[in-house]
Amino acid sequence: MSWKDEVATLKAERNAVILAHNYQLPEIQDIADYTGDSLALSRQAAATDADVIVFCGVHFMAESAKILSPGKTVLIPDERAGCSLADSITAEQLAEWKAQYPDAVVVSYVNTTAEVKALTDICCTSSNAVDVVESIDPDREILFCPDQFLGAHVKRETGRENIRIWPGECHVHAGINGKELAEQAQAHPDAPLYIHPECGCANSAIYLAGEGVVEPERVHMLSTGGMLDRAHGEQSGTVLVATETGMLHQLQQAAPETNFKPVNPRAECRYMKMITPEKLVESLRQMRDEVTVDPEIAGKARASLERMIELGNPGSGE
Ligand code: SF4
Repeated sequence: MSWKDEVATLKAERNAVILAHNYQLPEIQDIADYTGDSLALSRQAAATDADVIVFCGVHFMAESAKILSPGKTVLIPDERAGCSLADSITAEQLAEWKAQYPDAVVVSYVNTTAEVKALTDICCTSSNAVDVVESIDPDREILFCPDQFLGAHVKRETGRENIRIWPGECHVHAGINGKELAEQAQAHPDAPLYIHPECGCANSAIYLAGEGVVEPERVHMLSTGGMLDRAHGEQSGTVLVATETGMLHQLQQAAPETNFKPVNPRAECRYMKMITPEKLVESLRQMRDEVTVDPEIAGKARASLERMIELGNPGSGE
């Protein structure tokens, strides 16, 4: 039996659904029931009738699915698939930071552990971080974590001085820097720049675009669905894309005639690529690795995620 047939058989036996993040390996994206960004996948997780959710992504995303769907069994094919950005602040560090500024409001990017979310007032995505910060009383101090690029972007956009920013970052940022972005923009003067404001890897590009590294009229900040829609109607032969390289698979399928050029082809998340077909089969066979979240922590984390979903546009999620 091929691995694809085995996945299909086990999925039916377990009444399972497979969710895959856009940055997964192409073969995982192709076999998934749904592929999307982390918010879209959380919504799918909450809406599904399946008993088992196999989350092909990184651990904090699978944890969010469990937090929003506590009654379902959530599996991740390799629990070691972490996130360097989520790892850049621990619950203990955040608790210490909060103790120094007891009146501050804590805003955390979704790339955080459940324990950090439980200590957070409002979570945010790259798409709604500005709206979330603007919803907070201008006289209240804000602790923004863990992404320093998103924090700098929000500070610039809101003009707020009373934001303290945690110095965290995603290792994939190293692949999308100002120099290379400017060089690519000059080498392809007619190419639009798509930025996918999902996950930490594109946050440096959001910040750099705002600094004028690329002419503003060429910059398009797009959700997954927006990016695919735009790709279908794209007139330019070349499009620069600032995102983790996994997203290129869907773009190239949507518009085979267009050359989608990653701003840096090394912008690859090693954690995302830890989910392989073999591990997916094993996960379904052995019902592992199960993602669990302490119910008390999950309750507090859910409140900060639900506030995020209520405020502004957290991204189309599609
Ligand atoms: S691309 Fe960066 S922020 Fe996204 S999961 Fe990987 S390490 Fe985390």
